[in-house]
Amino acid sequence: MKGCRNIADKSLISSASLKEELKKIVSEYGEVKRIYFEGPFPVVEIVNISDFLENKDIIAELARKVKKRIIVRADRNALMPKEEAQKKILEIVPAEAEVKELHFIDKIGEVFIVAKRTGHVVGKAGAVINSILKSTGWRPIPLRIPTIDSSLTRAIRRQYINRAYKRTRLRRKMSSKVYSRRMNLGKFVTLTFLGGAREVGRSCILLQTGESSILLDCGLNPSGPPFPYFNVPEFDLDTLNGIVVTHAHLDHCGALPLLYKYGYDGPIYCTESTRDLIVLILLDMYRLIGREGGYPYFSMRDITRVFDHTITIGYGEPVDISPDVKLTLYNSGHILGSSLAHLSISQGAFSLLYTGDFRFRNSRLLDRAECKFPRLDALIIESTYGGFQDNKPPLQYAEKKLIEIVKETLNNNGKVLIPALSVGRAQEVMLTIENAFESNMIKRVPVYVDGMIYEATSIHTAYPDHLSRRIKSKVLGADQPIFSPDIFTPIHRQDEREEIVKVKDECIIISPSGMLSGGPVLYYFRCLAPDPKNSVILVSYQAPGTVGRKLQRGIKKVTIPSGHEVEVECTVHNIEGFSGHADRVQLYSYATVVHPKPSKVLIVHGEEHKAEELKRGIQRLYKGRAQVLVPYNMERIRLK
Ligand SMILES: [Zn+2]
Repeated sequence: MKGCRNIADKSLISSASLKEELKKIVSEYGEVKRIYFEGPFPVVEIVNISDFLENKDIIAELARKVKKRIIVRADRNALMPKEEAQKKILEIVPAEAEVKELHFIDKIGEVFIVAKRTGHVVGKAGAVINSILKSTGWRPIPLRIPTIDSSLTRAIRRQYINRAYKRTRLRRKMSSKVYSRRMNLGKFVTLTFLGGAREVGRSCILLQTGESSILLDCGLNPSGPPFPYFNVPEFDLDTLNGIVVTHAHLDHCGALPLLYKYGYDGPIYCTESTRDLIVLILLDMYRLIGREGGYPYFSMRDITRVFDHTITIGYGEPVDISPDVKLTLYNSGHILGSSLAHLSISQGAFSLLYTGDFRFRNSRLLDRAECKFPRLDALIIESTYGGFQDNKPPLQYAEKKLIEIVKETLNNNGKVLIPALSVGRAQEVMLTIENAFESNMIKRVPVYVDGMIYEATSIHTAYPDHLSRRIKSKVLGADQPIFSPDIFTPIHRQDEREEIVKVKDECIIISPSGMLSGGPVLYYFRCLAPDPKNSVILVSYQAPGTVGRKLQRGIKKVTIPSGHEVEVECTVHNIEGFSGHADRVQLYSYATVVHPKPSKVLIVHGEEHKAEELKRGIQRLYKGRAQVLVPYNMERIRLK
């Protein structure tokens, strides 16, 4: 048929043309054994790696030329024998790194270097890494030892190392999701809201273009219909190119195992710390469902699949995730590893920013969300605190109030209970307490952290790069630990809890869940609430219908999910300002300073009236220069 030849679009990437281009460039520097793809990343195997790396900047130079991260490996026949390589690596890496373990993965020629200070393993501009690769042929992967030890994070690490070969095999298969082409019958960009529209929970948006289908988040709803609408006609597991996960809260990632259970075999994209936290909270959910006698909708195998299929990317690193979509993650200031997802479609012809959950003020733990982007046409923004009344006090005020309440309760020989999500608020509160102890603002008492909080905190200490500038300079610059084990005691067993509430004196207990909808906090609450000496401090968002929301409203007799009726005689405080979400002021200031200005704004992740109020506010702010929408679940909106 005449004209059909023009169906190919030259601007789209094909693996064959990219391989050809790469081969041409790399061959100028050395002999190429073969080129293939692992997910979105090209892998180049070099015959004589030592000669090839004579030019120290070669890998960075190549990445600049092809605008991609390139994995350079030596020809496997040229690897130095392991014993010899081990000796050589320990010679090259400076002693300050304190290398604890080396794990060689023969089949791919990689070596995991587990060290206390990974900065020294990398070296200035990657000098140490290059030197190892050059002299041994083994490609080093540095892994930082968390300063807080936890058996669960150790197990996750072990799996990560043990499954390295399996992962690379999967990634080779998954590269077809990035580079395979469809018939180019026209360009468009649409969004279908599978969950999280006019509600908080089960965040899940399907982005479709002429060439791709991408899922933005894949969450559960803890209170309400649990799953996103995976049964809408637009959604097809077989044609899904990838899933972008903004952060490791269940309402953004809890439904991932379900997709693997039903046959999805493509990649998940997120930051490195997010991957570890996702595994942690999925394991926690799996155990909790089992303990409460429920039937988990997924198996442990599905969690492993999530882990194996995750491709991690760094902040600010553009990565092709499908033939016409490039993803860049930016810090969102919400929890460890949380990201804003910027998607550049058809070589920048259309750009979309999905905020996920974000905070636009610095906290102790994290810097505020990024707000400058190369291009921006449409903005999908959360609205948890988008209501006209949602002005939250600054963090300094919240911290001051927390310290005052703790001080007063301890002076009355009472116990302080702080319900908190395992990931995010818990660590923020822990840092506040640590700082108050260090500066003698409150007397030192035992601080017990229950549930998954300790494990999640351990993961924080493995990724200081993802934390605030202040913490980075404390940990990486001054070599001082955070979340000192001298201050925080992990609690895992029921007999330990009983001893704390019945026997122990004044103390602080931080325990999930943040809304008192489940978890060990309910036991503490049941035991401590009837005593007026004690205090409960709420620091998180409290969803309608939860015990936390009832306490916020001052209700004095509540029935907790275990069926117990609890008389609330203790004092209940609600401290706003610790939240990881932008409040009304931050949302407006974000809409004001975000650059460039979008011509479309879509409001999600908020109770219906709050999303509507934010819509009115942004409409006023943009004076009609942007179309502002509050989509419905299952609605499909064409952006281009
Ligand atoms: Zn969140």
